[in-house]
Amino acid sequence: MKRACWRLLSGEYLYHALIPLVSAAILLSAVPAGAADKPRVVILGFDGMEPSIVDTMLAAGELPNLAALRSAGAYERLHTTYPPQSPAAWSSFATCAPTGDHGIYDFLRRNPKNYLPDFGYGKTDAPRLAADGSLVSPPKAVNYRRGETFWASADRQGAKCKILHVPFSFPPDHLQEGLELSGEGVPDIRGTVTTFFALSDAFTPEELSAKVAGGIRLPIEFQEDSATVNIPAYPDPRQRSNVVQAPLTIKVDRSAHTVSLSAQGQSDTVAEGAWSKWFKWKFDVTAQYSVHAISNFCVIEAGARVRIYMSSLQFAPKQPYVPFSTPVTYSGELEDRAGLYKTIGWTNDTHALSQDALTDDSFLAEAKTTDDWLQALTLDEIKRNDFQLLVSVWTSTDRVAHMFWRFRDPKHAQYTKEGAAKYGHVIEDTYKRMDAIVGAVRKQLPPDALVIVLSDHGFHSFRKGFSVNTWLARNGYLALTGKSDPATAHTEKGQQFLAGFDWSKTKAYGLGLGSIYLNQKGREGQGLVAADAASQLIAELKAKLLDVTDPDTGGKVFSAVYTRDDYHGQTADAPDLQLGYADGYQTSKPSAGGAVPQDVFEINNGKWSGDHASSDVASTAGIFLANKPMTQDARIEDLGVTALTFLGLKVPPEFRGKSLLQQ
Ligand SMILES: [Zn+2]
Repeated sequence: MKRACWRLLSGEYLYHALIPLVSAAILLSAVPAGAADKPRVVILGFDGMEPSIVDTMLAAGELPNLAALRSAGAYERLHTTYPPQSPAAWSSFATCAPTGDHGIYDFLRRNPKNYLPDFGYGKTDAPRLAADGSLVSPPKAVNYRRGETFWASADRQGAKCKILHVPFSFPPDHLQEGLELSGEGVPDIRGTVTTFFALSDAFTPEELSAKVAGGIRLPIEFQEDSATVNIPAYPDPRQRSNVVQAPLTIKVDRSAHTVSLSAQGQSDTVAEGAWSKWFKWKFDVTAQYSVHAISNFCVIEAGARVRIYMSSLQFAPKQPYVPFSTPVTYSGELEDRAGLYKTIGWTNDTHALSQDALTDDSFLAEAKTTDDWLQALTLDEIKRNDFQLLVSVWTSTDRVAHMFWRFRDPKHAQYTKEGAAKYGHVIEDTYKRMDAIVGAVRKQLPPDALVIVLSDHGFHSFRKGFSVNTWLARNGYLALTGKSDPATAHTEKGQQFLAGFDWSKTKAYGLGLGSIYLNQKGREGQGLVAADAASQLIAELKAKLLDVTDPDTGGKVFSAVYTRDDYHGQTADAPDLQLGYADGYQTSKPSAGGAVPQDVFEINNGKWSGDHASSDVASTAGIFLANKPMTQDARIEDLGVTALTFLGLKVPPEFRGKSLLQQ
């Protein structure tokens, strides 16, 4: 409009008089209409940032940008979901509703009819191929979450949104105006959370035959320091045992401590301890159907022996296995802007570190690279100045705490003084990095923009595992086929997913990180407990669990046990009981996977040493900061409502959160 007026004017005087006006007009024309003059909200999420650590660092002056938020507005604990774990919490964040409304309760859920487990938050189905190899239907992602996200609501009301890496928001929403890049929840091309590849010329036969959680070990058979390894890349959906292979050529220079990798026309020489560039892959499943992927490598050792980590085969940004951005072309546009990037949702490969396929240092270096990438993207999107709501979430805060808590808790079985000296501060280092992100983001924003920082839950040490199913068996609630003595009954090693359970004698069973279900008549396929006896059994189990003590310390194992009433909402598919562990305890891994190990308690000897998944929610709050004064008692479902209210948009009636803005 102002530019059009300028064309109507002429003459030297007018030219000089109007220079400031023209400059302003040009500046305005760089800002898409309707964005710059409207209110703006930026929400930065740091998964699992623990309030007690933040408090200590704030007191020491180590988080200046969070401190600036605190003094400008608000800093308090953020009340989170039952249970305090990411799938439930981020789904409550997204839909402004409690767990019972969106229906995401745990990482695992079960089909009550046949007791088979499934991911608790969604799944990615493989494509369907005809016998002749042609594509019948492409792979498809499904999110089990119920309800509309607050950014979809904002978009519907005409506000442009940019949603980056909000966990468990895959597949992304369809947005008219805005953009979304899915993060945690995006699987690899196999549909798994992660399947890394560990390659070595030094694996023992036992190591090669052992099952590796989250990965595959592959031997390198060198001949004169050169070898080709066939990577088992993609199972043919028509016959999953038929796996499409992809050759990778490896040449090692043992004196220079480098490895040269080549595959599908690409190559890179990588020094010991370093990460490679990204490789693009194309797997021809049939003559008519190909799958594209990307992966990178870390050379762990390249001397007397060779060890190489290869990341999961992740979605290719320009030819995604399943679209993971809105618009679908956005993921490819990001490749054009800054090159290939990590697309798998579980961005830090905790499994590989647990299995010694990555070192502590290589894990931490990679976490920083991924954090920096998301920081650059977030700042780039903010600088474009064309949005009203931006949400960006980092998850390294959670992963680093899961893996390195062992070096800050002297009571943890994996604690060593040397480890504490070297890695005892890495959680703080990660928090400092997040603090710098907050500072950099605020610098790009006008002062009247609302800035919110949150973590979805806190953290605890994980010293001991509790096997829920073993406890149920020892107390007469769970029976195993052919194992009549409840004092000793257990499943065999490797047996999982409720296999071997005698449903005719089982009243309750555990699956997932903190869920207990009754084997209820009319609901479970081989239900035993009558519906009218359910509430009494739930009360009995709750009372007994609250009495459980650790024989080594005499302390209580649970500080709370929740029932369906605590989920608030439509809870027909909810667990009947949700455990609320005291500090130091979590469900043991085998029990979470539906097994019955021999002992009720096990010392946690893993690197996965911090946790929160089924902690008592009362002691596992997240944090909430804002640059404007807020009302007290913030809950995770309030933040989206606060954002919509600040933007002057309507809050849908099904959103149960409240606005935290002070009137
Ligand atoms: Zn976590």
